[in-house]
Amino acid sequence: MIISRVVGLLGLLSGAVAYKTLSDDSLRDIADPGDDFDIKNGALLAPILQPRVPGTPGSTAVLTHFVNFFQKSLPEWELSFQNSSSKTPLSGNDEVPFRNLIATRDPPWAQQGHVGRLALVAHYDSKIDPPGFIGAIDSAAPCAMLMHAARSLDAALTKKWAAMESDGETELEEAGGIQIILLDGEEAFKVWTHDDSIYGARSLAEEWEQTMHPAASTYRTPLDAIDLFVLLDLLGSAKPTVPSFFRTTHWAYSNMAAAEARLRSLKQLETAPADVFLREANKKETDRWLGGAIEDDHIPFQARGVDILHMIPAPFPAVWHKMTDDGEHLDIPTVKDWAKIVTAFAAEWMELDGYLSPPKKRNAMPELDRTEL
Ligand SMILES: [Zn+2]
Repeated sequence: MIISRVVGLLGLLSGAVAYKTLSDDSLRDIADPGDDFDIKNGALLAPILQPRVPGTPGSTAVLTHFVNFFQKSLPEWELSFQNSSSKTPLSGNDEVPFRNLIATRDPPWAQQGHVGRLALVAHYDSKIDPPGFIGAIDSAAPCAMLMHAARSLDAALTKKWAAMESDGETELEEAGGIQIILLDGEEAFKVWTHDDSIYGARSLAEEWEQTMHPAASTYRTPLDAIDLFVLLDLLGSAKPTVPSFFRTTHWAYSNMAAAEARLRSLKQLETAPADVFLREANKKETDRWLGGAIEDDHIPFQARGVDILHMIPAPFPAVWHKMTDDGEHLDIPTVKDWAKIVTAFAAEWMELDGYLSPPKKRNAMPELDRTEL
């Protein structure tokens, strides 16, 4: 099934972006994170589970973990930093540094300014108070989920784009890119206000709005080139329910809810079948929409016209901003299920049906596909 849709006014001008649901076989091929989400030794998650207040050694260590991951495992992803600094209510006259990391993968033929992107976003900083706060759901686990999504789609993107090139489709069909944005400075240092919160997001949105692409580009700026900004936050506690916040992106929420339902019916998720995360696929126009009630990293992007899909539970999990928000209080089946749901949604957005390889077997036996085994 192909659902054509229009993304905002820019989408209207530049043509619709397609979304193609995965077949059952492709959904079964969504990789399981396995032990990589182990809180002690997991390759993706464990290194993030430490205090990482902006400008501290913990922040640098976690940022280095991300950079090493992309450089070693995903060399096709282009890394860039967007840095800023700001005084905070605790820093006096000192400027605290904020470092956003952006990992981007575009089609190989893409020209600057002519490729729209799916942005998958989480913040990696942790709250300064209480001392020693880990922030496992806030947002170490969401960062690990995005790393898993990126590596799960990487080979399929290569295959799909190579097939498009050899079929001569690169002129006819627009293909979008994908971007992982890991933001710094989401947390307030003292009390959440407009000035004391989302330092990294505010700086990135402002800079990207002012960075002009070459004349006659499809997208005027890197900000305009974001087709959808999917923000993950506070994910990893058991039994979450994430509402559909915005009427404008409800279609995207519904697609992710459908992916969740299909993964569940195919027995690809670990949490109990009744513990559905996304329950508002059939929300009506006249129902109560909470959009705007929760302030988070999407605010400066939304204010500039970017479409937002906010994946945050309401109500917030019980451990929110408490010392108990640590690795031990994560519900790992929930963390792994979120990783698969977000990966499936991104795979459908990137139209990767038929290009995903069966998990586990892809390294051992690259020649064989599932049907031959
Ligand atoms: Zn927080």
